[in-house]
Amino acid sequence: MGFLNMLFSGIGSILGVIAETVSTVVSAVREGLESFVSTRGTTPSRVASEAERRRDRLREVNDEIMHLRNIRMGSGSISDQDRKRWSVLREERDELMAGLNQAKEVKAAEKILQSEGVIEKVEVDLHTTHVLQYNAFADILGKKCPKCARQMKLQWQRDLSVVGPKEFFWGCTGWYVQTPKGHACNHREPLQRSDYGLMTDLSAPEFSMTADEFGEILTNPSTTNIISTRLQDLRSDLQARKAGIELATCPVHGENMVLRQKSNPSGLLDAYFLACPHWLPNNQGCAFIEKLKSGSQLAALLKSETGQGIL
Ligand SMILES: [Zn+2]
Ligand SMILES: [Zn+2]
Repeated sequence: MGFLNMLFSGIGSILGVIAETVSTVVSAVREGLESFVSTRGTTPSRVASEAERRRDRLREVNDEIMHLRNIRMGSGSISDQDRKRWSVLREERDELMAGLNQAKEVKAAEKILQSEGVIEKVEVDLHTTHVLQYNAFADILGKKCPKCARQMKLQWQRDLSVVGPKEFFWGCTGWYVQTPKGHACNHREPLQRSDYGLMTDLSAPEFSMTADEFGEILTNPSTTNIISTRLQDLRSDLQARKAGIELATCPVHGENMVLRQKSNPSGLLDAYFLACPHWLPNNQGCAFIEKLKSGSQLAALLKSETGQGIL
């Protein structure tokens, strides 16, 4: 858990709140944020500008780590000096990422306080699983793996067009860390009952319909054409600015994910994925990719990057 002791989506939602009321939770967020900034003698905007510096440094650290990794992969071994340097860099990366996670939490808390008036409580059932998927598009903060303390991620079977509530699970992000023995951590766990309660801004038009109805919309050719064009525009714009996706970061490298397009997609829901900037085809780089196989993820992506979802 982070400093607020709550589970957040970077979208600006609170997860795992089934028994509480919106006003109790919003007050707890306000108090938590106030006490965080006053104990540290900082302000949310200072936290944000420090995060900017950390992100720059993180890029340098990751590049150096990848360089050492390439040396090891090329020659089969590295010198003692390089090995030491590698471990110093890893420690620095852990510290930078911890700081960045705090900044994300501050930002999510601010978003919650700003949208206080439109936040509602949803208990995710068969008809509202798209709300959970929408929120899982962004980094989920505050859920740590009990085995290895890495962040956990809300996952579901990506091939289903409409996901049932029981098909979600928490997966440790250590799964994406490759070691000579395989995945660094395989831990996964089912959602608790409380995980199905979330507080979120329900004013998005996507939430005025059920998960099934929302899935239907994406089978309409003229709608999918419009969405495809918008995604292509967004992709070229991000590429031109050399920018990543603001709300989604690689759990291993901490850098913002890059929107990528598949070469021979079978349709809109097969065409795009987010990849770590250190991802390379054929398992050459970071293994972290996020397939964008649902309308909810595309809506969350377009909404957070352009201000407008898909409806
Ligand atoms: Zn783990
Ligand atoms: Zn990565």
